[in-house]
Amino acid sequence: LLIFFSAFTLSDYESKEVAFLIPQSSVYAGELLHLPAKGEYLIGGKKASYYNGRQFAVVGLSKNKQIRITKIIDRKSSFYHRLFGGKIYRSEHQVLEMKRPKLYKDNLLRLPASVWKKVNRQDKIQQERNKLRKILNTEYANDDLGCLQYPIESVRVSKFAAPRTLPNGYAYYHTGLDLRSRSPEPILSMGDGKVILAEHMTSPGNMVIVHHGKGLVSRYMHLSKIDVQVGQQVKKGEAVGLSGGTGRVEAPHLHWEIMWKGNHANPEHFVPLWNRHCSPT
Ligand SMILES: [Zn+2]
Repeated sequence: LLIFFSAFTLSDYESKEVAFLIPQSSVYAGELLHLPAKGEYLIGGKKASYYNGRQFAVVGLSKNKQIRITKIIDRKSSFYHRLFGGKIYRSEHQVLEMKRPKLYKDNLLRLPASVWKKVNRQDKIQQERNKLRKILNTEYANDDLGCLQYPIESVRVSKFAAPRTLPNGYAYYHTGLDLRSRSPEPILSMGDGKVILAEHMTSPGNMVIVHHGKGLVSRYMHLSKIDVQVGQQVKKGEAVGLSGGTGRVEAPHLHWEIMWKGNHANPEHFVPLWNRHCSPT
């Protein structure tokens, strides 16, 4: 009986492949996508955000080679679907090739042995990941998203999406942008928002996370000092702490991340493109 009923709880999915839902055939990992103002779009299953008469989404930095853009045409619910929570979708979709560097086991992080000993604690890291997942999934309503700025004026020391390997052989992509900061200096919030995390974690060290609304979040890591508290409202350009070298670092620097609904954006592309369409608050 259980098997019989569970068949009805699955969503039925009718989708037609469309050549150009958006006028491009490939995307870069971490790219900011602008979508037509009308229609409901899903990017890798996540609903696009509406801001300033446009819709936007961020292509994340996954190990997948493709990403699917879906436009919902129609949702229908039958009696059984209503009862068990499922839905029938009719949609159009386009599959785009995701461009990103090759993940090779090279580029070993030159972590001092004392740092590696401190941060190689998988049990603790897993607990922190679970906590982060919950925090990053919270919503924060903010219609005046405004324009964005860099957290410090400095030079890049490591690119977004650079392949890296930990001393234990684990290869991964760099999920943020590293900016040089040899001595402690104020780290400024990239935009208006609300602090949703301000604490020490194993790999990020002292970390501040600011939610800017519309699914957009920024993270500032390896700080020597945290100057804000959870729940605090911050303005664009307001200091959240001082740069430093806490957590998993070779040397002091700022690791800065921009995320949209858990998808990592490339800050160097995201900020200039965003600022072409933002309205100052
Ligand atoms: Zn980094």
